[in-house]
Amino acid sequence: MLYLDYAATSKPSDETLEVMNEITKTIYANPSSLHALGIQARKRYNEAKKELAGMLNTTWKQLVFTATGTEAINMVIKGTFFKHPQKTILTSSIEHHATINAINFVKQQGGHVVEIPVDENGFFDINALENALNTYDVSLLSLIYANNEIGTIQDITPIRSLLSKHHVKLHLDMVQAPAHQAIDFETLSVDFASFSAHKFYGPRGVGFLYIKDKADITPLIHGGKQELSLRAGTENLSGVVGMVHAFKESQDNLSKKEATILQTAQTFLNALDQHNVDYRLNGPPLGTNRLNSVLNIAFKNQDNQMLSFALSEKEIYVSTGSACHSDVIEASHVIRNISTPLEYQDGCIRFSFSHEESKDEMKDLAKTLAILIQSNDYNK
Ligand code: PLP
Repeated sequence: MLYLDYAATSKPSDETLEVMNEITKTIYANPSSLHALGIQARKRYNEAKKELAGMLNTTWKQLVFTATGTEAINMVIKGTFFKHPQKTILTSSIEHHATINAINFVKQQGGHVVEIPVDENGFFDINALENALNTYDVSLLSLIYANNEIGTIQDITPIRSLLSKHHVKLHLDMVQAPAHQAIDFETLSVDFASFSAHKFYGPRGVGFLYIKDKADITPLIHGGKQELSLRAGTENLSGVVGMVHAFKESQDNLSKKEATILQTAQTFLNALDQHNVDYRLNGPPLGTNRLNSVLNIAFKNQDNQMLSFALSEKEIYVSTGSACHSDVIEASHVIRNISTPLEYQDGCIRFSFSHEESKDEMKDLAKTLAILIQSNDYNK
């Protein structure tokens, strides 16, 4: 089996699962309970939050634990809209559906939204941003930092300085970033950032939101006073502890792991070249501002659904785009918005991997693809 769908989800380590299991078995009390076991649960929860905050160079008061990245994104976009319903929200044309559909909700409620285009590599159009800031009364820019389909990583510095001149808040969807780069909120200097544990080898059903000033948004979930009164509901202690453990593991030897990933990616593309496969790498070139672990490859005049199905039969698991809409058979909005030529649009496959795949596995994959494409057998 060759699992190449890490951008969709990743597998928790045995150690992470053990830590979670231990918590579930021993400290199962509600952290809001006032008896000794409850107090122990609260203590463990607070410790986990402080540990995560330390690794992100922020304080625990800036972190809100959520169930998913989608939830964190919804909190920011809808929470900003409810706070400033008359103001404009900006976003980009290559967002994840969590953002697209939160934005669609805002529009349905009568909110005003402007979508900023990107260039052919998925980089945000700073001139269009400046025009929008000069034209509208803007509350927020919600931007995908590391793109889940094509890997583009945005250069935040010019965007942030433009926004701060206009006193506009910045939210980054950083769901795809943590397994690949260190995050330091002191230097990043954003207002909000969304994360999801299952993308960095943590469990499903837990994520978090970084929020500089909790007064900037209206809460969406009302109930108890959990999570700074921004997100009511009994805390998921084992999930949170598992997430923090996985985050710590994901930050170990980051630069070594990234160097391996770059070599793996290069080996794969070289092997495709050697087999004369006609393809384009969507997004920026390898080794530039991108996730080298997310290779969206467009095969000329191929059907990505059929090709990925043929790979799946060989126990090679890839994605045809964002997993959340893989049942929709058309080129994704990201592929269309970076102007991939039409003859390549239907043949886009996302290979997303970790630092653990071997060069031989990637060479064999290229060979398998070449045979499938050149025989065209899988299409029949
Ligand atoms: N944002 C990006 C960039 C993603 O890749 C994903 C997951 O696919 C999400 C948001 C949503 O995260 P979750 O699956 O935790 O809701």
